[in-house]
Amino acid sequence: MKIVKKGKPGTKWVGKKIECSSCRCIFKLENGYNVEFVSEQRDGDFYKVKCHGCQGLVTFTKIAFRN
Ligand SMILES: [Zn+2]
Repeated sequence: MKIVKKGKPGTKWVGKKIECSSCRCIFKLENGYNVEFVSEQRDGDFYKVKCHGCQGLVTFTKIAFRN
């Protein structure tokens, strides 16, 4: 069996664009980015990633994804 595309759980953010709330830059999330998934029961799950514009920490939820 040949694997055409490797499936990796938890990387649904690959290829998505997010906006940094600090510097307003929009960047695309790519494979290899250090995106951290945080499971928060009270406020809902979210992700953390370092902004490539201002190096600040950006937190976002699934609904923040821009296509
Ligand atoms: Zn930024």
